[in-house]
Amino acid sequence: MTKQKTALCLGAAGFIGGHLVERLKSEGYWVRGVDIKPLPNYGQTQPDEFIQGDLTEHEFVSRVMWGPGQSSTGQPGYFDEVYQLAADMGGAGYVFTGEHDANIMRNSALINLNVADIAVRNGVGKLFYSSSACIYPGHIQDEPNHPGLKETDAYPANPDSEYGWEKLFSERLYLSYARNFGLNVRIARFHNIYGPMGTWQGGKEKAPAAMCRKVIEADAKAFPYIEVWGTGEQTRSFLYIDDCIEAVRQLMQSDHKEPINIGSEESVTINQLAEIAIMQTCDRVLKVKNIEGPVGVNGRNSDNTEIYKLLCCWNPRYTLRMGMKETYNWIKTQYDANTL
Ligand code: NAD
Repeated sequence: MTKQKTALCLGAAGFIGGHLVERLKSEGYWVRGVDIKPLPNYGQTQPDEFIQGDLTEHEFVSRVMWGPGQSSTGQPGYFDEVYQLAADMGGAGYVFTGEHDANIMRNSALINLNVADIAVRNGVGKLFYSSSACIYPGHIQDEPNHPGLKETDAYPANPDSEYGWEKLFSERLYLSYARNFGLNVRIARFHNIYGPMGTWQGGKEKAPAAMCRKVIEADAKAFPYIEVWGTGEQTRSFLYIDDCIEAVRQLMQSDHKEPINIGSEESVTINQLAEIAIMQTCDRVLKVKNIEGPVGVNGRNSDNTEIYKLLCCWNPRYTLRMGMKETYNWIKTQYDANTL
């Protein structure tokens, strides 16, 4: 009889972590989730076991990375798969103001140093690391009409935020552990993942969730406009969460060890994103008001040539309009539950 596979999800109370746990459970894995904050109560499938604590602490990481002794190999302490999603991060309001730089670098670097080290010591089947499109050089993203960032564009390095520098450092950290100690890694560079059950208020929310919340608030309070940071002419692409999780699972089943983009090539301006959020409400016609605020680079898009070559059955199923509808409806439910 084949034994049940085991997975460890670090950052399980977060947006992508929560969706990943749900997916792994649906595939029959035994899952342990770990996070510094408690699991949210969004009705998602819970991990078999959840341990709350701080992954910047070496001793804690050592404890949670010791498996339950029921991995598919029977080897004690061993996890078949480890997903490292924990990071000190947020949207533009958190990452680009400079106010959180020291915490972002310290906390995320410590987490990754601990995880790489203990993964080698305990032995893990495969380790997934979530990097970011923010590792790409700022100076090649000056134009709003960016054709798409290729994996090879990463060097010579010049990320536009400390968040991006830490991600690049940690990519290299995992790659060197792979080279020197045989750690079996998969590394994805996520490009703006969005969808239901993500942060939608409080300062760490990303643009799609922020737009939906602003529209809902404007509707509720009869504001005539929503505020959008910068000129709104900066461009981005956004990938719906279900498409992201599918790509992660397929990447894990591949033998591709170099960092690879997981994103959408559907590029829009931030003002267009705001318009799509406004379209979700049929009650009133809201305007967009552009104001001063942190914005990041002028143009960023994903070049999916490599991932399309690698995963022959994957491409984004959700258009931005479809994904924003799901996101808006979920945030509306949360907003109503919190305010009514
Ligand atoms: P998230 O903030 O929702 O999840 C990250 C989780 O890590 C949080 O639940 C947080 O509490 C946890 N965490 C932070 N510090 C911790 C610590 N010291 N100990 C234990 N847990 C800690 O973010 P997400 O959107 O789910 O992103 C997951 C990963 O993907 C992150 O590494 C992020 O940098 C990366 N990523 C995300 C996007 C995106 O668009 N969502 C884009 C690029 C990269």
